[in-house]
Amino acid sequence: MNSVLLVVFDGLRPDAISAETTPNLLRFAAMGHRMARARSVFPSETRVCTSAVATGCHPQRHGLVANKMIHPLDPTRTVDTGDGEALRDLEQALGAAVLQEPGLSDRLGALGHDFAVFSSGTTGQTFLLAPRADRLGQVVVSAHGPQWCSIAGQSVLARLDPPPSEPTARAVWIAEAWRRTQLPNPPAASVLWLCEPDTSSHYQGLDSAAQRHALKHVDAAFGRIVDEWQAGPQRDRLQIIVASDHGHVAIERHYTVSAAFARSSLFQGVRSTGGASAGLSAPDATPERLADIATWLMQQDWIETVLAANPPPGALPLEAAEIDHPRTARILYTMRSSDAAGSTGLPGLVTMDNAVPLKVGGGSHGGLNRAELSTVLMMAGSAIQPGVSQRPAGLVDIAPSILALLGLPGGETMDGRVIEEALAGHQQGNASYSPETWEAHHEGFAQRVARWRMGRHVWLEHGERLHPQAST
Ligand SMILES: [Zn+2]
Repeated sequence: MNSVLLVVFDGLRPDAISAETTPNLLRFAAMGHRMARARSVFPSETRVCTSAVATGCHPQRHGLVANKMIHPLDPTRTVDTGDGEALRDLEQALGAAVLQEPGLSDRLGALGHDFAVFSSGTTGQTFLLAPRADRLGQVVVSAHGPQWCSIAGQSVLARLDPPPSEPTARAVWIAEAWRRTQLPNPPAASVLWLCEPDTSSHYQGLDSAAQRHALKHVDAAFGRIVDEWQAGPQRDRLQIIVASDHGHVAIERHYTVSAAFARSSLFQGVRSTGGASAGLSAPDATPERLADIATWLMQQDWIETVLAANPPPGALPLEAAEIDHPRTARILYTMRSSDAAGSTGLPGLVTMDNAVPLKVGGGSHGGLNRAELSTVLMMAGSAIQPGVSQRPAGLVDIAPSILALLGLPGGETMDGRVIEEALAGHQQGNASYSPETWEAHHEGFAQRVARWRMGRHVWLEHGERLHPQAST
């Protein structure tokens, strides 16, 4: 039986892969199959993305609908999904799993196969990859220390040097931990989640020297895994998938959203979850007032897109972005963004809510900009045929493809598809995909979400506000 390793470089933009900074990713791409049209999910936030990776489903099925999620049982509170303890508390309160679809961890556990998680991401992010690790005897190693590792993970941790605290060093440490302890005899599937280049992009600037330095180090750590894999006994058995969970746009300017809300009586008692992509919690608002709020948002020049559970004219339904779930805020908005290039030359700029402690030039994600939704997705190994695929693919396809590589069932009920064109021996069929557009207009405001469809499978290409010269 094959073994599969999924390596996620958090927040890696496909256009950040270069000979200078990421020679090992470039080498890996040349060895294997690269999906040129890979996409994230909406909101393009890490825990929402992690849950899509785990379950093979869009958030409207897995139910982890935002990084900062309105509490499902108390709309006056939010849940910080980056905090593993908060997610454990939420499961207690719900008396059920947070994720409403089984993840790879559950599926492999039920089939009697081993599964491991090594992550330098947040404790909440790590929890979502294997919420029942102890019950299933799975190894979970978190770079945040033993209290965030599973019981089996703690005994792995005990054999290693203690994790460092600096994010890049932590990401390198967790990659080394996987290589040293798992590569000699890898489990059926494992996930290695590296918190870089995401952390350095946010805080030190997108495509800054410091961010490229961080990326270079995690690329080198990945290169050591590739070298040892290719030279060792796992060469034919282990298949490796490399992905990113979302991209980044650069913060162009700030806007004080809370002050704009304070100037309008519509927002009394209404709270925003904030950020590049936000939900409004308005437990006492009537449907009429919610419609007025959505209409007001569409009149603001700092707004990019507005989605609503009961969309008034001009707003898009939540379903347009595969986020129609009872836990989703009744109104979602994204901050104004564009495809223009910033000082680094990379396309994708955003106006940031100044409640978020990130500087101009810092990276941001969460919205529907192409630079936020475009992701890295490639795979290599003895079961993979080299090439480049133009067919749409994305985060939701990773879990079904891992199960297919392992010869295990379960993927057929997921939202994603098996990326068959990458599998060795696969005859290139004539499976075709088509573009699909959701558009809404009202009084000078227009927006659209562009998607791709292949049969029942859907990917979000991008979403945007249409400007007068661009709309017809
Ligand atoms: Zn992320």
